[in-house]
Amino acid sequence: MNRIRLSVLAAGALLVAASSALAGEQVLNLYSARHYSTDQQLYDAFTKRTGVRIQRIEAGDEALLERLRNEGANSPADVVLLADAARLWKAQVEGLFQPVKSATLEKRIPETLRGRDDGAGSEWFGFSMRARMIVYNKQRVPPALVQNYEDLARPELKGKVCTRSGAHPYMLSLIGAISEHDGKHKTEEWAAGVVSNFARKPRGGDTDQIRAVASGECGVALTNSYYLARLMRSDKPEDRDAVAKIGAVWPNQASYGAHVNVSGAGVARHAPHRADAVRFLEYLASDEAQRHFVDANNEWPVVPSVKETNPALEALGEFKADPLPVAAIGRAQVTATRIIDRVGWR
Ligand code: FE
Repeated sequence: MNRIRLSVLAAGALLVAASSALAGEQVLNLYSARHYSTDQQLYDAFTKRTGVRIQRIEAGDEALLERLRNEGANSPADVVLLADAARLWKAQVEGLFQPVKSATLEKRIPETLRGRDDGAGSEWFGFSMRARMIVYNKQRVPPALVQNYEDLARPELKGKVCTRSGAHPYMLSLIGAISEHDGKHKTEEWAAGVVSNFARKPRGGDTDQIRAVASGECGVALTNSYYLARLMRSDKPEDRDAVAKIGAVWPNQASYGAHVNVSGAGVARHAPHRADAVRFLEYLASDEAQRHFVDANNEWPVVPSVKETNPALEALGEFKADPLPVAAIGRAQVTATRIIDRVGWR
């Protein structure tokens, strides 16, 4: 039982699971908020390479952080893998990570994609990149109307905008990044405009937004790039059909660029297997793991020398990315949370 769902685990059951390793067997306890089934291949490859078995606790970002807080110094967590800069930042300021100094990680991962480093090493590292895109229904919305995130507040889009909850990390990071560029006041005005354009109350994940745009229930929505790329590579007729009905936009190409974010990880503050935890992070920066993020989950590598072809990413084409450092995006979620509360983007 490598894969343990948090929702069915009582606290006591976790201790049993964590101690069920065979005598002499090396185990790494991974708390993961990545929710992509293809990642199992990644963990299996690490085990094959090192002999270290991965016991995965999988849950949403906030549930994992809550669990780490509650477990405190008794936590069995070795590595904490989160799906967004907003949550990585939160875990960092709450002291849930410990600094890691690794020549391999410093060499392979650009400084702008790492967490705080007070001299003892970085608290977390980004391992894959994604962008937040605009998708629109070709029948219902002219693309000229939706070239920028700011456009989603245009009065012409009344009753046509769909998003997931503003409280989701992907939205908080985006809204935080926008506030860094446009300022708090303008961003709050914009957010109120987006809410007044809603076609429906926020619900579902990014793929649900894409499907609702394809069906015509929504005219325009936001999605992380890999969800769109996954549908583009799907053989299912309903997915092909959905993709045919929508257009995709790289936002803000004439201004600050499309919002990009990372999935990343750090070593847990009280990691019982620290050396293997660092080894696992170094593995995530290896060519093999970086290619996995590209091929299996349609993300971009963080290691600049890794070049890998992915037909969907190629079809989406080159784009200008927002250069805002991920650490700034993390910090900005405080502002973003205040904004979504005030405008009721839930
Ligand atoms: Fe996701």
